[in-house]
Amino acid sequence: MQGFWSDKRVTVTGGAGFLGQHLVKRLEGLGAKVFVPRQRDYNLTTLEACLRCLLEHPCDMLFHTAAYYGGIGINVAEPAKLYYSNLVMGANLMEAARLAKVNKFVAIGTACSYPGYLEGNLKEEDLWAGPCHASVVNYGLTKKMMAVQAQAYKRQYGLDSIHLILTNLYGPGDSYNPDRSHVVAALVRKWVEAELGKAPSLEVWGTGKPIREFIYVEDCADAIVLAAEKYDDATMPLNIGTGIGTSIRELVETINSVTGYAGQVVWNVDKPDGAAKKVLDVTRMTQALDGWIAPTDLASGLAKTIAWYRANKAQADTKW
Ligand code: GDP
Repeated sequence: MQGFWSDKRVTVTGGAGFLGQHLVKRLEGLGAKVFVPRQRDYNLTTLEACLRCLLEHPCDMLFHTAAYYGGIGINVAEPAKLYYSNLVMGANLMEAARLAKVNKFVAIGTACSYPGYLEGNLKEEDLWAGPCHASVVNYGLTKKMMAVQAQAYKRQYGLDSIHLILTNLYGPGDSYNPDRSHVVAALVRKWVEAELGKAPSLEVWGTGKPIREFIYVEDCADAIVLAAEKYDDATMPLNIGTGIGTSIRELVETINSVTGYAGQVVWNVDKPDGAAKKVLDVTRMTQALDGWIAPTDLASGLAKTIAWYRANKAQADTKW
């Protein structure tokens, strides 16, 4: 097989993590030679380890998917750890990438970087149009600094990079720990456990009104690979999402229909709602990726995720 990825040397930080493992699988399937640095060998919060990693394993392209992140709960509980680990990792890795002369740095960003109080779907040109939502500022802002660094490094050092802004992911291999998980994984676990325990009711956080966008993790990995190949504007981030908004209440209804759970859903309004709406505009993405749109609809993605979680529950529950 000869193609863009054949024999390309690629390093994926976070390659054993949720998104990273799907990305590695996809890249290897396309013929790339993938290296995944493990934390025990390379502590990427230090410049020394970042540089050592890239010199010991030279690569043409570096995907920085490693992140310390999670749902609304961890943003309340661990703002300082989110801030420090993500800011330092991003800054050091990009500095190491230019010192090691990596050809292209693919930064994985987040929709939490967007202003948290805008109307409508989020467009790349609005990235700086207001403050991040208070519930996610420590994660969102530090990821956004990678976009600033990328522009500076392009101008001064000529480092090629792209910054991809990802919406909420879900799927196999996610964190199903309730202290860390995002809403889909949290609800999948609650629903499956309610079924197993024949619970008459279960609890969901907030009012159910917030609107979110959910992309199946394998679709997201495909889009990242395409963007790495086709997109090269270091000065303009690119959204990666479905462009489809779903309220938490609709998400609950979809999980009910996929699982057949008929118990009562109790809304705990003492828990935070977070941003009222977080949905990406995917117009530029579709153009840049030659018409690509995420193929997996929410009900099908949830069915695959729930089937995976049922089959792998014991192992999934031990993961932080
Ligand atoms: P966000 O997208 O950064 O706000 O992060 P989350 O995925 O954690 O939360 C999205 C929305 O789902 C928020 O409005 C939460 O209140 C709501 N939600 C409902 N139930 C849960 C739950 O059990 N866990 C989490 N993490 N969120 C929940």
